Formats: sequence, structure tokens, C-alpha cells
Amino acid sequence: MLIKNDFPLRDFTTIGIGGPARLFVTVTNEKELVSALKLAKKSGKAWYVLGEGSNMVASDRGFSGMIIANQIEKYVRKGDRVTVGAGNNLFKFIMQLNVFGLAGMERMAGIPGTVGGAIYGCAGAYGQEIRDHLVSVRFWDGKKFRKFSNEECGFGYRGSAFKKHKNWVITEAVFKLETGRAAELMKISRDTISLREKKYYPGLKCPGSFFKNLKLDDLPAKGAKALLKKIDPEAVKYGKLPSGYLLERIGAKGMKQGRVAVAHHHANLIFNTGGGKAADVKKLSTRLKRLVKKKFGIIIDEEVQYL
Ligand SMILES: Cc1cc2nc3c(=O)[nH]c(=O)nc-3n(C[C@H](O)[C@H](O)[C@H](O)COP(=O)(O)OP(=O)(O)OC[C@H]3O[C@@H](n4cnc5c(N)ncnc54)[C@H](O)[C@@H]3O)c2cc1C
Repeated sequence: MLIKNDFPLRDFTTIGIGGPARLFVTVTNEKELVSALKLAKKSGKAWYVLGEGSNMVASDRGFSGMIIANQIEKYVRKGDRVTVGAGNNLFKFIMQLNVFGLAGMERMAGIPGTVGGAIYGCAGAYGQEIRDHLVSVRFWDGKKFRKFSNEECGFGYRGSAFKKHKNWVITEAVFKLETGRAAELMKISRDTISLREKKYYPGLKCPGSFFKNLKLDDLPAKGAKALLKKIDPEAVKYGKLPSGYLLERIGAKGMKQGRVAVAHHHANLIFNTGGGKAADVKKLSTRLKRLVKKKFGIIIDEEVQYL
């Protein structure tokens, strides 16, 4: 277990924003995780678990408690079943699957972060989601380790039971993959990454898409009807209306707040131009939400997590 004092979260989050964490503890196995949690409890400190900080906007004031960085790594393969530590980097994991011709996650290559972070937010891209081949998840519930089947994880669009229980920590997951051909899977992953780099070009300081897309089924019937009158029906893809479409219509591209801006090439991409502040991210996000509400009568919600 590695403990750092006053560790700047801006050095950990992909948006490059965030003040110091009073304690920043890296855990590499379940025993260390439980020790860290006991330490936090004993000292009366609040704690918060992070993977690789790729979906986070941390406060400029930092975090006065303990950040627990989950680096629990494990990789055990038995045929088409793989048990993986929640701290494994998702990309590295997908590459390992590709090499062994285990298919089903190759289009998710390029989503930053850990396997645990992906499960928490039900990450997905290009028609694949982390839940698709997930068998079970092992997690700490505050008192003991438990195991959830896929169904028990309560997955939904960018949501899971873990999002509703902030004291639960995912430590391990089991996946059951399909059979594929290594070379083909690698090519799909490579092509996906090339495509992704057009939006998220290397070095861009951002937390991925800022707002969740809108699932039309989740909107009240009246709201959905009113919205559909104001938009091009072609914009709806797989029952979802991209937030980027609405943001583009309100002229979000290029909007700025301090050293934080909306990308010129994508309206749902807020990035740190250098030295950006969380306060500016929040101001910009509030402004965008207000403009979308005014024009379309609906509220868009953040996909990113604030700390
Ligand atoms: C360039 C870029 C592109 C992106 N593209 C996509 C995309 O295509 N699709 C997509 O879905 N996302 C995308 N994202 C967002 C992000 O990569 C995912 O949300 C990712 O799964 C977050 O993983 P993480 O380990 O970095 O989590 P973190 O950002 O560290 O944490 C995010 C949340 O998960 C919780 N969490 C993390 N680990 C655990 C755990 N072990 N137990 C319990 N809770 C945990 C944290 O408490 C926090 O609330 C992108 C981000 C970037 C920067």
C-alpha cells in the first residue's frame, strides 16, 4: 500500500484538474483495500475510490479525506472465462483478450480507465458495453465481500447498482467471451482507436463525453413528443438522442469559461485548455444545461462524476 500526502488530483485526472488529496492511497490487492478503508474509518476521514480518473472533475479545493486508487490487478484465464482485477487497465485487458482470440470487447478499445471504473459507469462504445459479456462482479459492501451476477448489477445506460452505493468498491469481475480470431480482433481495435483519435486527439485534457445522451424511452411521453417536434428525427440513433446534437444547436462549440472550453469539433466535449479550474467547468456546464433547457425544454445530465 503506497500512501502519499497532499497529492494533486490534477496530476491524476485526465482533465488535469483538481486540488490536493490529503491522503492518496494506492491499493494493489483486496487486503490492502480493506486496510485502507479501516484506516479511513479509524481516522474519521471521508474516502473516495478512483480508477484512473478518466471520468472525473475533482474540486479545486481538493479532497480533505482519503482517495483510494484501485490498482488491484489480476488476470486468470480458463478457456473462454477470464477473471480480472478491477484495477486492470481496460485497454490492456482488451489487448490480452484479443491476443487469445476472445471476442466481444474489441470495439471498446480506447476507452480509458480501469475495468472497475467501466463497470461502475457501464462504459461502452461502438455498440459494445462492459455488461455484454460480464458474468459476475466481486465487491466490498462496507462490511464484507459479496458477489453479484450480471443481473444483480442493475446495469442501465451509463448506470449500475454501484453508482447508487458509494460505499461499495468493485474489486474483481468475471467475463465470458466469444470465440474470435486474434488478428481480426486486433484490427477492429486498431481501427476503432484511429476513429476515436479524430474526436479525442492525443494529449487532449478531457473526461470523455461530458453529458449523457438522452434515452427517449426515459423521457415522459409529453416531453419526448415536444422534443421530437424540435429536432431532426434522423439525429436519433438506437433510441438515443446525442446530447452533442442539442449542444451544437445551442451554439456550444467553442464556448469558453476561463481556461475551459467546448471543443470546436465536438459540442459534447469540454476540455482544459491549460490551467483550467473545476469551478469553470461547473459554470460552463450549468450555462450549457440552461441553454438546452430553454431551447428544448429538457434537462441533460452529466456523464462525468464530480468530486
Ligand atoms: C478521452 C476519453 C474518452 C472516453 N470515451 C468513453 C467512451 O467511449 N465510453 C465510455 O463509456 N466512457 C468513455 N470515457 C469515460 C471514462 O473513460 C469511463 O467512464 C471509464 O470507465 C472510467 O474509468 P476510471 O477507472 O478512469 O474511473 P474514474 O474516472 O477513476 O472513476 C469514475 C467513477 O467510477 C467510480 N469507480 C472507479 N473505480 C471503482 C471501483 N473499483 N469500485 C467502485 N467505484 C469505482 C469512481 O468512484 C467514480 O465515481 C472516456 C474518457 C476519456 C478521457
